[in-house]
Amino acid sequence: MIERDADLSGANTLALPARAERLARPDSGEALAGLLAGRRGDEPLYVLGQGSNLVLDGDLPGLTVIPALDRIDYRVEGDQARVTAGAGVVWDRLGADTGGRGWRGLENLSLIPGTAGAAPFQNIGAYGVELADVLDSVEAVAVADGRPVRFLAAECEFDYRDSLFKSRRRGEFIITAITLRLHRHGPCRVDYGGLAARFGDADPATLEPAAVRAAVIELRQNKLPDPAVLPNAGSFFKNPVVSVAHYQRLKENEPELVAFPHRDGHKLAAGWLIERAGWKGRRLGPVGMHRDQALVLVNHGGARAADVRALAGAVRADVRERFDVDLEQEPIPLP
Ligand SMILES: Cc1cc2nc3c(=O)[nH]c(=O)nc-3n(C[C@H](O)[C@H](O)[C@H](O)COP(=O)(O)OP(=O)(O)OC[C@H]3O[C@@H](n4cnc5c(N)ncnc54)[C@H](O)[C@@H]3O)c2cc1C
Repeated sequence: MIERDADLSGANTLALPARAERLARPDSGEALAGLLAGRRGDEPLYVLGQGSNLVLDGDLPGLTVIPALDRIDYRVEGDQARVTAGAGVVWDRLGADTGGRGWRGLENLSLIPGTAGAAPFQNIGAYGVELADVLDSVEAVAVADGRPVRFLAAECEFDYRDSLFKSRRRGEFIITAITLRLHRHGPCRVDYGGLAARFGDADPATLEPAAVRAAVIELRQNKLPDPAVLPNAGSFFKNPVVSVAHYQRLKENEPELVAFPHRDGHKLAAGWLIERAGWKGRRLGPVGMHRDQALVLVNHGGARAADVRALAGAVRADVRERFDVDLEQEPIPLP
C-alpha cells in the first residue's frame, strides 16, 4: 500500500516536520521489487529506517521506502552463531536477543538507535566495536532493476562510519537483510573508555555479554539524551582529523585539548571543541546543543529544518574561528 502526502515528523528522531509525496513500507523482498518495478525511472527515491541519523530539510518528493522486513533467523554452527535479520528489525532487539543467549559480539553496540538495514550504511560503532567486526554479509536489491545482490563484509568497503552504500555506490541499493557472525564463547571486549573503567582488571574471558550490555546501556543512558524524550539525531558532527602540525599548534594554546592519534594526524573530540567554543547547553531559538553532551543537537520543541541549519552554522563558524577546524555534519541531510 502506498500512502500519499505522508507525515514524516514521527519518522525522524529530530522530530522535524516533513512529508513524503508517496510512502511505502514493503514487508517482503517481492513487495519491494514490485515497488521498484512500478516506479518511474526518474522519480526520486528515499530509503528510511528509524530516521535516527537524518536531518529532514523539507518534504521528500517521489517515493519514500521504509523497509518493514522483520524476520530474524538464528543458527548455531559449532562455536559460532549466525543471525540473519530483515532490514526493518530494530537494531537493539538483536543485541538483547543474542546477549540473552550468551552470544558475544553485539554487547558493545547496545542501545544504538535505528534498524538492522541501516547499520551497514554507516558501519555503526561504539565502545571499540563496529558492525564490520561482526558482519558476515548484506542482502540488498539493486534500485535500477530490482535484482537481488549479496555483498560479503569484505566487499562493503567499510571504514570509520562509512561504507560502499554511503559513499561510492550511494543510492544504488536498498538493503533487505544482514547476516551477523557471533561467538557462543570467548572474551568480551572491555578495553575501551567507560567499559575499561567499569570492568577494571576482570578477565574478559569470564565476562558474560549480558553484563557488558547492561554496562553499555547504563553508560549511554547517563551520557546521551533519549530521542523519545528530547528529540535528537545523536552526534551531530564527526570528530575532525587534523595534521600533526595543526594539532601541535592547537595544543600550545589549549593544553587540555582532547585528541587521539590517527593515521592522518590527530583526531579531535568535536564535543570538546564545541564546548570550548561556548556552545554546550546554549540554545538558538527552539534548538540547542545538549547541556551534558555538547556534540548532540537537540530539538526543544517545534523546531524546523531552518532552525537546525542556523544553529549548526553558528557552531561551525565559532569552532572554525577559534580552532581553524571545519566540522562536518554527521546526520544525512534529505532531500
Ligand atoms: C541518541 C542517538 C545515539 C546514536 N549513537 C550512535 C552510535 O553510538 N554509533 C553509531 O554508529 N551511530 C549512532 N547513532 C546514529 C544512528 O543510530 C545510526 O546511524 C543508525 O544506523 C541509523 O539507523 P536508522 O534506521 O535510524 O537510519 P536512518 O536515519 O533512517 O537512515 C540513515 C541513512 O541510512 C540509509 N538507509 C536506511 N535504511 C536503509 C536500507 N535498508 N538500505 C539502504 N540504505 C538505508 C538512509 O537512506 C540514510 O541515508 C545514534 C543516533 C542517536 C539518535
